[in-house]
Amino acid sequence: MGTVTSDGTTIDAGRPSIARVYDYLLGGKDNYAVDREVGDVFKRDLPGSVAIAFANRSALTRAIAEIATTTDVTQFVDLGSGLPTADNVHQVAQRHVPESRVVYVDIDPQVLVHGRALLEENDRTRVIAADVRDPDAVYHHPDTRALIDFDRPVAVVFSAILHHVNDEEDPGGIVRYWIDRVPSGSYFFVSHFRSGDNPETAEAEAVLQQTFGRGRWRTDEEIARLLDGLEILDPGVVPAPLWRPATVDTPWSDGAKRELTVWEHLIAAGLARKR
Ligand code: SAM
Repeated sequence: MGTVTSDGTTIDAGRPSIARVYDYLLGGKDNYAVDREVGDVFKRDLPGSVAIAFANRSALTRAIAEIATTTDVTQFVDLGSGLPTADNVHQVAQRHVPESRVVYVDIDPQVLVHGRALLEENDRTRVIAADVRDPDAVYHHPDTRALIDFDRPVAVVFSAILHHVNDEEDPGGIVRYWIDRVPSGSYFFVSHFRSGDNPETAEAEAVLQQTFGRGRWRTDEEIARLLDGLEILDPGVVPAPLWRPATVDTPWSDGAKRELTVWEHLIAAGLARKR
């Protein structure tokens, strides 16, 4: 079942999509019945799914605000950017540094359609359809080349995307590709499903693999290894709500001034810098 949009993009409303299920968990409206069905399985069987989604989004916006306010980096490549939601990367970055440039990348056709309408707000933002497992396609894309100057430091954002890349697809190799193409002083943000070595993690991985054929919960060590060769900044790779909770307040943040639930331990965040 496919819906063809005005720009010729085909959206399959008959099969769940990672982007739309995530949108549903964040309370968005860009999803179909088939996505809500999967989202409801997560909510019923994994009642922390919503907390994981919000904890992830909150850490992402804190990290972007940190990069915008504490470094000279004004260029962002957001890989697996997702559907537009509250406080997207360019809004956070441009709020602090208006000349910031952002290239959003996603494989989901709906992200492209909604993204072009909502994320390409100005001539400093672009949304491109590409597969992060084919980094050459992203790097050489004309919109990337038009917006990003790879002779200057870049922030490469891997927010809740590398856990959708299976081991045999070499997620570490994807990160290395970008490390090799950006100059020293560049930043890498990663958030990732975090293995708790507990039934919740195993169950969550099984649901994702059954639904999408992908979804890996990795340990802190495995996630840190994806950043091999980079300097991982304080406080390291940690549960997302504990990643610099108090530095910047965002609409998503509760400051983590309480005991974390078991679920909130299941998403990790980290920021690294190329020396
Ligand atoms: N980065 C956003 C965030 O952290 O809030 C969205 C994360 S969402 C869980 C994962 C996104 O990655 C979805 O929009 C999905 O379409 C996209 N995605 C999954 N596999 C991809 C691939 N191989 N290439 C590009 N995008 C992909």
